[in-house]
Amino acid sequence: MKPPASQPYIGIKPPGPKTRALLRSTGDPIDPFPPIWGIPARNQEGPWIEDVDGNIYLDFVSGKCVANLGHRHPTVISAVKEQIDHVVLGATENRFTLAEKLADLVPGRFPKKVFFGSSGSDAVDGALKLARWSTGKPNILCVSGAYHGQTYGALSVSSTWNWMVRGFHPLPGVFHLPPPYCYRCPFKLNYPSCGLQCLRYLTETMFTTFCPPEDIAAVIIEPIFGDMGWVIPPNEYFLELKKLSETYGFLFIADEVQTAFGRTGKWLAMNHLGLVPDIVCLGKPIASGFPLSAMVAREDLTIARGLHFQQSYTLEANAPACAAALATLRVIEEERLLQNCTKLGKHLLEKLNELQKKHSTIGDVRGRGLLATIEIIKDAETREPGIQAAKTICRLALENGLYTMFMGAFETASIRIAPPLNSTPAIIDLGVGILDKALSQAEKILFRNP
Ligand code: PMP
Repeated sequence: MKPPASQPYIGIKPPGPKTRALLRSTGDPIDPFPPIWGIPARNQEGPWIEDVDGNIYLDFVSGKCVANLGHRHPTVISAVKEQIDHVVLGATENRFTLAEKLADLVPGRFPKKVFFGSSGSDAVDGALKLARWSTGKPNILCVSGAYHGQTYGALSVSSTWNWMVRGFHPLPGVFHLPPPYCYRCPFKLNYPSCGLQCLRYLTETMFTTFCPPEDIAAVIIEPIFGDMGWVIPPNEYFLELKKLSETYGFLFIADEVQTAFGRTGKWLAMNHLGLVPDIVCLGKPIASGFPLSAMVAREDLTIARGLHFQQSYTLEANAPACAAALATLRVIEEERLLQNCTKLGKHLLEKLNELQKKHSTIGDVRGRGLLATIEIIKDAETREPGIQAAKTICRLALENGLYTMFMGAFETASIRIAPPLNSTPAIIDLGVGILDKALSQAEKILFRNP
């Protein structure tokens, strides 16, 4: 990439010929572009991605909430270079330092144990195994429309799209709660007059019929429902669910794979609630792009019936990834990124609220810190989801040099906005400006506006 990028550059309409050839070589579809796994890149730096055809995009999703420090932060890169000059495989001192730091970072003044892995999905599987193993109970509660990953345990508690489970026979003993998706309440009620009907369904219907509370090992929950559409329920929802877990004796697992490490302006999104989970799953941004995950649990849960809970993976806590993780934690502190995220998050939300006034396709604006979304609709009255519109907006944004993507359970479409935590107001304004342009262009096409 010609140094240093400060503006997007689109030399050829994406996907360009080299990108197309690569996708064709593996049979990947060319439309929609980019595929779910991202843009084939030849350079990445800060908030910028250069594709193999030389186009430069502003990455407004931080590589799916992984590159929270921007791509290839110099402190992370030099820590990894230093590490691979000495050890690549297996444990170093860093593994132990990192375990201590993660245990400190996760709320709860009790001894904790950290189990490492290499993907968010394996951290979730570990949490589900530990919950069943330590309580001796069979059942797991999760939320319908949630996303927890694609290994067997993780997919069994996920339901963002039906292809995640179709034909796979998910694990038995998993029960789905109705989603606390206030913009699209499954009970057609409004908060707070609803009295949290979505939780009352658990106690009044599920507990008394097919899901007796004594058989529940744990509930697994995202503090912000990511792939469901970055749905942010009222704080009271989580606090009440936590109380229920204490009353009925099941564990509370927080899946913070996407929300931890400053994304919402605090180390963990659960910190906004003052809530102390029994088990926390970490992944994605933990090592700024190097494969690493962790499951952090109350230590007492890991000893039962005179036995110790065991789990290990050959490539867990890989040395360069641990070096990257420690450097990531250091940068978040030294560069005061929690503070920057909180400040910029407010600015971003203001900008998105302004956009909503201009664009009828924006049904709802949600955000906490630098994790924000605009939900795309076809019709303001009916709130009919605008999937086709969201596709068009993302394509046009890309053609104007902005990389973003949309997601949503229940066939809804919310556009992800998650710039790096070390962004500046200028970067936010640039990204929102391109989004504004893409929305106008899309509305022109879709509604044939003059
Ligand atoms: N949990 C959550 C909340 C996630 O967002 C994801 C990934 N989108 C996962 C788990 C799975 O992580 P991975 O893709 O690294 O397995």
